[in-house]
Amino acid sequence: MTRVLVVEDDPQLVRALKINLHARKFEAEEAGTGADALRLAAARTPDAILLDLGLPDMDGVDVIKSVRRWSKVPILVLSARHTSEEKVRALDAGADDYVTKPFSMDELLARLRAATRREAAPTRADRPAVVTTEDFTVDLAAKKVRRGERTVRLTPTEWHLLEILVTHPGHLVSQRRLLLEVWGPTYSENTNYLRVYMAQLRRKLEPDPSRPRYLITEPGMGYRFEP
Ligand code: CA
Repeated sequence: MTRVLVVEDDPQLVRALKINLHARKFEAEEAGTGADALRLAAARTPDAILLDLGLPDMDGVDVIKSVRRWSKVPILVLSARHTSEEKVRALDAGADDYVTKPFSMDELLARLRAATRREAAPTRADRPAVVTTEDFTVDLAAKKVRRGERTVRLTPTEWHLLEILVTHPGHLVSQRRLLLEVWGPTYSENTNYLRVYMAQLRRKLEPDPSRPRYLITEPGMGYRFEP
C-alpha cells in the first residue's frame, strides 16, 4: 500500500484528502506544520508527500529543501499561490509536480500515481542508454538522434536541452533549471532562448511541430518530455 504524508494546515482539506486517499487504497498520515512534516518524513519514510506551500510555521519551499538533503521521496505541491514564480521556486527546490488549489481530486490522485511510478522507475545510474519513441530514438551514449534511417543533426545546445528532457521522462523541468544547466547563471531569465531552441528541436523531431507530441510546453513553467 502506498503511504502518503499529507502536509496541510486546513483541517477541512485534510479531511477531504484523507477520505479520497483511503478510498483509492492509499494510506495517509497528516502533518499540520512544517516541523511535523520534517519529523514524520524522517520517522515514517512515506512513499510520497503532498505538501501545502503556505504552512503556519515555515515556508513550504524550505520543507522541500530540507527533505531533499536526504530523500528522493516524490513531493507533490498543493499551491494556493497563483504566480508561476512560486511554483518554479518549489520545482527548483526539488518538488516533483504541483497542483493549484482548487484542484480536482481525480487530477491530484492521477498526478500522485504518476509521481510514485516515476520514483519506482530506473535511476540515473542505470538509466537506459537509448530512449526510443515511435518517431525518433535518442542514443545518450553515442549522442546521436535518429528518425527512421536518418541521423538528425543537432547543435550542441539542442543536444544538451534534449538530453536533460529525455532523461526526465514525464517530468516537468523548469525553465530556470534548463537555462541554468544549458546556458549558465547569467542567462537564467532568458526564456526567449528556450522558446527558440525548443522550436528548432520540434522542427527536427516532432511529426507535427505545431502540435507537439513529445516536447510539451507547460506555459510559464517549463517543458516536459512525454515518451
Ligand atoms: Ca495553508
